[in-house]
Amino acid sequence: MFYNEGMNEKERILELRKLLKRYSYEYYTLDRPSVSDYEYDMLFRELQDLEAKHPELFDPDSPTQRVGGEVLSEFKKITHERPMLSLGDVFSYDELRDWAKKITDVYGKVEFCAEYKIDGLAMSLIYEDGLFKQAVTRGDGTTGEDVTNNVRTIQSIPMTIPYKQRYDIRGEVYMPKSSFNRVNRERRANGEEEFANPRNAAAGSIRQLDPKICASRGLDGFWYHVPEDVNSDTHYGSLQYARHLGFVVNETTSLFEDIEDVIHFIEDTAKIRHELPYEIDGMVIKVNSYDLQRRLGFTSRIPKWAIAYKFPAEEVHTKVEDIFITVGRTGKCTPNAKLTPVKVAGTTVGFATLHNEDNIKDKDIRIGDIVVVRKAGDIIPEVVSSIKEKRDGSQVPFIFPEHCPVCGGRLYRFEDEAAHYCVNTECKARLVYSIAHFTERNAMNIDGLGEKRVEAFLNEGLLNSFEDIYKLHNRKEDILQMEKFGEKSYDNLIEAIENSKKNSLERLINGLGIRQVGEKAAKILAARFKNMEALMNASIEDLSNIHDIGPVTAEYIREFFDEESNTAMIEQLRILGVNMDYIDTSTGTESVFNGKTVVLTGTLEKYSRNEATALLENLGARVSGSVSKKTDYVIYGTEAGSKLDKARTLGVTTLNEEEFENLL
Ligand code: NAD
Repeated sequence: MFYNEGMNEKERILELRKLLKRYSYEYYTLDRPSVSDYEYDMLFRELQDLEAKHPELFDPDSPTQRVGGEVLSEFKKITHERPMLSLGDVFSYDELRDWAKKITDVYGKVEFCAEYKIDGLAMSLIYEDGLFKQAVTRGDGTTGEDVTNNVRTIQSIPMTIPYKQRYDIRGEVYMPKSSFNRVNRERRANGEEEFANPRNAAAGSIRQLDPKICASRGLDGFWYHVPEDVNSDTHYGSLQYARHLGFVVNETTSLFEDIEDVIHFIEDTAKIRHELPYEIDGMVIKVNSYDLQRRLGFTSRIPKWAIAYKFPAEEVHTKVEDIFITVGRTGKCTPNAKLTPVKVAGTTVGFATLHNEDNIKDKDIRIGDIVVVRKAGDIIPEVVSSIKEKRDGSQVPFIFPEHCPVCGGRLYRFEDEAAHYCVNTECKARLVYSIAHFTERNAMNIDGLGEKRVEAFLNEGLLNSFEDIYKLHNRKEDILQMEKFGEKSYDNLIEAIENSKKNSLERLINGLGIRQVGEKAAKILAARFKNMEALMNASIEDLSNIHDIGPVTAEYIREFFDEESNTAMIEQLRILGVNMDYIDTSTGTESVFNGKTVVLTGTLEKYSRNEATALLENLGARVSGSVSKKTDYVIYGTEAGSKLDKARTLGVTTLNEEEFENLL
């Protein structure tokens, strides 16, 4: 797909490095891969082979020399005492035999431990004095993210162990298939993007700033490695000890003296893996003796004493009968293939996502094509490629529609985005979600008009737009005829609607549902522009100059206000009495932070450091990095350190997150 025939090997190496870095970023940092693991692995393999042919092009920064992954700035960075590495991989039994032979040729008979390769994310757990102290992601192998609070929510991880020495145990945090299906169902219902596979879902959950969200995701863990364990001479022995300490060690982990027996074990596992309640993407084979492990050593990326055998992706052929678009509640338009039903990885598949326009074009998938289908992460079906040789001339290329199939509004494709969006907030497909978002507590705060009731009102023809909310008082009789609606709930609802007219501008901005403009961005915009008209007239440049808004969000905002139906809707709201001005609640006219010097310390739950800084600066504060007598406020989150102590010693006013929010 990317290989230009005229390209020489050096150019191809450079191209592959760039491409793999992009894919890694999407996979590890965004938790949103755009290609399958198999595709990635094949490109990685190609790069390894080309680099072996061209040692003169060695680059320590090449993806083949580094552990993939990045540390997000939102989390505290922790340097691993011993690096957390990746694994070398093989894709056939012959390659596995070769790997084992290289070791046995030198060291004679070797005992191998074979285990499931759990498809989650690697985690190091640190215990001190018998207490759980810290959980750190693999990150770039040297430095990981402190995700202790999130890992604490995983029920099966012991918080105390009967062992007093420092203990570092590593393993995999994963999302069981049942949790994955549930979480994606919920995300679909909320109009959020679904996770591509359980691995990305687990990684995305562990990197939530709010541990409550992580707790709700139903994660679990298997523990499979204790580096340099003093309690045993072997890897297997150390796992038995870990089990005795209370860790969940996968019970299928087994020892073998012959690589052929390992292969039988892999074959047996391949037959039952779809029935397991969690995903595995292969098997890991490790040299059992610690002494031999030490002698074999590591490269910068992988241990030489272990290898991953990756299961081939199960693929089947079927026909694309049609391609159709579904509109999500955020307006995202996804093309889907209607397939002639076919069995793949244990279930019958009749539909598959085609992701976006580029994917269809790149793979040249046409209506009527015979295609290769497989399950991404073994769960979500996807079309891998079309089989051109099977075309008979009846196939029809798919042209992505310019208009929304539901409301007919124009579709937009934003710069740097692969998806098309319907931005018409009144599009039926989006309506329930949009209105429920508008009435939400953090937006217009209209109690009594939640998602269920919005849907019921919509079905009764009482609501079709934001404006209709402010006309509901004209429909008293119709409303009172509805099930479970008495005089009292009607009065309460109308009162809540009336009160919402007086809201400060940021609530309305949030309620409009502009992409990437949530509660915090809405506050920043309202504080900056003061009224709706000024915001509506702001250019992309004005908007992207605001700290923490950024060019992409700026473009979304502009697109929103460029849509005529949206400006007409805002005008209607104004006529109906909805306030369009920013009301600074702190002093009536100006924020308490105006002109003040403020220091932020520790981790705030709802705001990243950048967001809090932007918010304060917009309110006229100067945000400083150090505490002195001249500091007016120190705002602190969890794990605040010496700055908070110093503020208290100097008598500087300190605010926790709740107090800070109250002053906002
Ligand atoms: P890996 O997943 O191939 O293998 C290493 C990891 O396996 C370890 O870090 C550990 O987390 C895990 N593991 C699971 N069970 C284990 C066990 N029993 N013992 C030891 N380790 C176990 O390597 P990686 O570096 O984490 O990721 C690279 C892989 O990620 C690629 O091969 C590819 O499949 C995928 N990837 C995909 C994309 C994409 O765009 N689709 C991008 C980057 C990476």
